[in-house]
Amino acid sequence: MAAPPTPDGTSARVHDARAADVGGFTVRRALPRVGLRTVGAWCFADHMGPEVVTETSGLDVGPHPHIGLQTVTWLVEGSIRHTDSLGSDQLIRPGQLNLMTAGHGIVHAEESVRARGTLHGVQLWIAQPEQTRHGPSSFSHLAELPVVDVEHGNATVMIGDYARAESAAAVDTPLMGVDFDLQAGASTHALRSDFEYAVYVVHGRARVDGTVVAEGQLLDLRRHPAELLVETLEPTRLLLLGGLPLGEPLTMWWNFVGRSREEIATAATDWAAYVDSGASASDVVDRFATVTSRIAPIPAPTLV
Ligand code: MN
Repeated sequence: MAAPPTPDGTSARVHDARAADVGGFTVRRALPRVGLRTVGAWCFADHMGPEVVTETSGLDVGPHPHIGLQTVTWLVEGSIRHTDSLGSDQLIRPGQLNLMTAGHGIVHAEESVRARGTLHGVQLWIAQPEQTRHGPSSFSHLAELPVVDVEHGNATVMIGDYARAESAAAVDTPLMGVDFDLQAGASTHALRSDFEYAVYVVHGRARVDGTVVAEGQLLDLRRHPAELLVETLEPTRLLLLGGLPLGEPLTMWWNFVGRSREEIATAATDWAAYVDSGASASDVVDRFATVTSRIAPIPAPTLV
C-alpha cells in the first residue's frame, strides 16, 4: 500500500516494489517501473529477502548473460557465491560490494551459500553509457567500503561519493549509492542540484522530504530540495540512489540493456547458441564465454 496522501499530494512519488522470482527466490523489484525507468544511470533494483536459506534451498541463479550494464550486489545478511566467465569465484558478505561490468558481454551465476541462515540484500543495475557499453567486461570485489558517521547512524558509500568519502567502485557516469543505517531521529543530507535521486527503504520506516516511505517502497526524488530531510520513525535501513540523468533512451529486456530491439535480439541469439552448445563448446559466441556452475544455464525467454 502506498503511503496516505499528504496535503500537497506528494504520495504520488511513493511506489511499492513488486514481487518477482529470481532463481527460486522471491524478490521485490523497485526499478524499473512504468513512469520511472531510470534514476541517473540506475536502471534496476531488486530487494532480495530477508528469507531463510538452507543447505538445499535458497538463491539458485544459474549461468546467464548480461550486456551493457554493471551489477551491484550488496548484502545486509547472509552470503552469495558469484562465478563468472572471466574466471572470478567470489564469496560476498555484508559490508562488501560486488561490481560486475558486462560491457559487450559476460556470463555469471549466483547462489546462496549452502548453509542455514538468512539471506537479505539488494542487486542493483547501472546502465553503461554509449562510450563504454561495447567495451570489455570486468569484475571487482570491494572487501571494504567507506563508512561515515551521520546523525543517528552511519552511511556506507557503495558507489560514488558522499560526505567527503568516496567508494573505489569504478562507474562510467556521475552516480552515487549510499546505504544508511539509522536509529530513530531526524537528519539532513545535502543533495546535488544536477542529480536525480530515489530512496528505497530496505527495513523500517521514514518520512523523507515530508513523505512516509515504508519497507519495500521507493520514493521518487527526481525533483528534490537542496537538502533532504530524513525523519526515521524507527530503526531504518534505506538506500539513497542518485546520478546525473542518463540522457540515453534504453531498451531493456531480460538481462540485457541496449538501445534497440535489434541489438537485444542479436544478444538473445548469441545466448541461445551458448545454451544449445551445452555451455562447454569452445565455438560458443565469444562474448558469452563459459562459466563454472553446478546449475544449468538459464535459457532466455522468447523475445516477442
Ligand atoms: Mn545476473
